[in-house]
Amino acid sequence: MILISFDIDGTLEMGDPPGPIPLALVRLAKERGYVIGSASDRTLLDQQRLWDSNEITVDFVSNKHRLNEVRARFPISRGIHIGDAIMDEISAHQAGFDFWYADAIPEAGAHNWVF
Ligand SMILES: [Mg+2]
Repeated sequence: MILISFDIDGTLEMGDPPGPIPLALVRLAKERGYVIGSASDRTLLDQQRLWDSNEITVDFVSNKHRLNEVRARFPISRGIHIGDAIMDEISAHQAGFDFWYADAIPEAGAHNWVF
């Protein structure tokens, strides 16, 4: 089971500022059966409202520094956090997740490609 965590601001197109990751990619991850959600500096309520307003049902919303708690909630084999800042990378690695910069996610066919 793969879990993909998205930062919001500067990462997703619905962020403030908008980032390079289209919500279509989030929907694709969901269609693939991955556990998906957000880990952001925004409040949990704010994150949930944003997903709701875009009609995407997520499996979790988390504070960015609590990715380790997200990891503990799901029996995953691999966790990936996608973000745009060094704190995203630090939080991801502290939780044992892979980290991808939002503007540099692996191309189709790359060894670590998941979409
Ligand atoms: Mg960000």
